[in-house]
Formats: sequence, C-alpha cells, structure tokens
Amino acid sequence: MKIDTICVHGMQKQKEDKTGTINMPIYQTAAYSHSEVDKEDPYGYTRLANPTREAAEELVASLENAKYALSFTSGLAAVSSFLDIFNKGDHIILTEDLYGGVISIINNFTTKNGVLVDFIDTSDINGIKSKIKTNTKAIYIETPTNPMMNVTDIKAVAEIIKDLNIILIVDNTFLTPYFQNPLELGADLVVHSGTKYLSGHNDTLAGFLVTNNNELYEEIKTIRGTRGAPLSPMDSFLIIRGIKTLALRMEKAQQNALLIANWLKNNNKVTKVYYIGLKEHMGYNISKKQSRGFGAMISFEVDSKETAYKILLSTKIIIFAESLGGAESLITYPCENTHKEVDKDSREKRGITDKLIRLSVGIENVNDLIKDLEQAF
Ligand SMILES: *Cc1c(COP(=O)(O)O)cnc(C)c1O
Repeated sequence: MKIDTICVHGMQKQKEDKTGTINMPIYQTAAYSHSEVDKEDPYGYTRLANPTREAAEELVASLENAKYALSFTSGLAAVSSFLDIFNKGDHIILTEDLYGGVISIINNFTTKNGVLVDFIDTSDINGIKSKIKTNTKAIYIETPTNPMMNVTDIKAVAEIIKDLNIILIVDNTFLTPYFQNPLELGADLVVHSGTKYLSGHNDTLAGFLVTNNNELYEEIKTIRGTRGAPLSPMDSFLIIRGIKTLALRMEKAQQNALLIANWLKNNNKVTKVYYIGLKEHMGYNISKKQSRGFGAMISFEVDSKETAYKILLSTKIIIFAESLGGAESLITYPCENTHKEVDKDSREKRGITDKLIRLSVGIENVNDLIKDLEQAF
C-alpha cells in the first residue's frame, strides 16, 4: 500500500468487531469485566489497554512502517515518558533549537535527576561527533526544527553512532510520516506531537512514540502504564479520523506554503524567510535527499517589532494562536508564545528575536491567505 492508502486503510482493528463497522468503535470504558479468577484477560483497565487506543497505534505504526507505536495524552507526555529510561550519569546530546516545551522538561526535570545534557547545533555532524562521550546514551534531534527550520541529516547521524550503544531519537512532528520516515533513515525512536498534523483539526492533544526496537517498546510501555499518560479512547478515535485526510492536507498545505514563502520573499518588510522548500534554504539539499516533501511550516523575520505586532494582530483569516498543523492557518510569535520558557540570550542567539513570526500554513485557498497577509502588512 502507498502512504495515502495507508492513511485510510492502515488500521484494520475495526474488523475484530462483528458488526461490520467501517470505523473503529470508541471503547469508552475505564475497566473490563474479568472472565477468570486466576488468569489475566487482554483487557483489564484502560490505563493499560484499550482497543480504540490500540487501533490509533496500529495506524501510526503503519504510517511509519514500524512494528510499534505507543500513544500518549500529548507530545510532551510522550517525551517525558521516554526520558524516564535514562539514569543518573547518562549523557544525552540534543538539538539546541528544540521545541520549547521539550527544553523545559530537560532543564526542569531530566537534569535535576542527574542526566547530563548538551544542547548543540545537530545540523553540524562534526559537532555531534565531538560531543559523544563514553556515557552518551542518546541523540535527540528535531528536524526541521521549530521555529528556525534547521535540518539535520538523519542518516549521517545514524552512521556515526552505528557501532555505539547510543539511540537516535527524531521528532518528526513537522514533516509527519507522510513526508519523512526517520526509522528508515536509521533512527531508533520517532516522536510525534499528534496534536499537530496527525490530528489535523486543532481539536485534540496527542503524542506518539514509534519504534522497531522491542526492548525500547516494552520499557516505555511499562513507564506509560505506570505513570499513567496513555491516549484516551475518544482522542484515539479523533486521531484515526484526522489521519484519513493526512495525505490530502499535507499536499495542499505544502502547495500553499511554497506560494506563500515566495510571496513573503518579495515583500519589502520581510528580511528573512525560513522555509525548507526554498532552494536557498541551508537544509534544502538534505531535505531533498531524506524527505518526500517540505511541509508547510514557515518562519519569517520582519523589519521591526512594530511590524511583527501589527501583522499578528491584524490577520483576519489566519488566526493568531499557538499550535500548528491543522486545517486552519495559524500565526504565532515564538519569542512570546512557543519559546517564552527559553531564556532570552539563547533564544536570540538562535534567531528567535522579537521580529520573528511563525506561520503554520493551512489548507484554505492560497489567494485568500495571501490577501490576508497583504492587508495585515
Ligand atoms: C507541539 C510540539 C511538541 C509537543 O507536543 P504537545 O502535543 O503540544 O505536547 C513537540 N515537538 C514539536 C515539534 C511540536 O511542535
């Protein structure tokens, strides 16, 4: 099956239901009755197992062409859960330009528990090499990054840790499995904020971890069950429903994004455009090699803070709101919204200034979106 068919038919668990239902029923139950006293049933308590959740996981695993997917109440719940696998003294190398919430987890909890970290520019492969130590246990990359759209060569990173006991984790939220499959490029674990493109309608929070590694799967599944952060039955259903149109939405949003990125480039109040689908973008060639598309996330810098404020407050179709990846185009201000937790110096060093705006291009008519931006400028 090709990926657009997998979006629609990659989940077959509904066939276990005898009614002939086309969609997966929502098993909205906390507990299941026991059938025997001295033997465990497959379903006992929904924190540990739920058929609707398993259906969503089957679908996400098949999109990544992977053996296992585990779902969580949010992307950050997924990240928190796997970070629990590390012990005091372990060392992790991370992309410096990570999603702000992940940086908060690392700085507030992971390091407090004695895990050592290095935030670096992972698009520089030699930089990664120079940071690897005997206690390095993982490399965590986001590509492209949020919001600066830096691209890391996944295969090249996998290559340098091939014979080492180090796992490679890739946040694949921005490109989704529709455009990029990190496991096939050598990653061990893939992270998704399902809240974004997988759900696709700005109406659900969800997170996923995807892997082919049995040990990792079992370990993280145990952590999830114990900590109590699995995806609810209703939200699992919404994710399955959202993914049915993933291919259409990604294609349309990407098409819109390229036109908007080019329009922004020709606007005299715009000083920089960061879109990996532009040939001049630093990550363009690596993206061509490792991904099937460029997605629909654009960041751009304008001439002043005043211009930034004006745009954020005067778009009429594009909504000034956090999050991304839904049908609706959303515009955000990373320095005040998504990356507020990151301290000002390291933010500005990475280009997240008060002139930077992030745009999640939706699936509206592109002429309406451009007209909206035009009047806002
Ligand atoms: C949103 C996001 C997250 C966190 O996901 P939540 O579902 O909001 O918890 C992680 N990584 C990236 C790239 C994101 O965009």
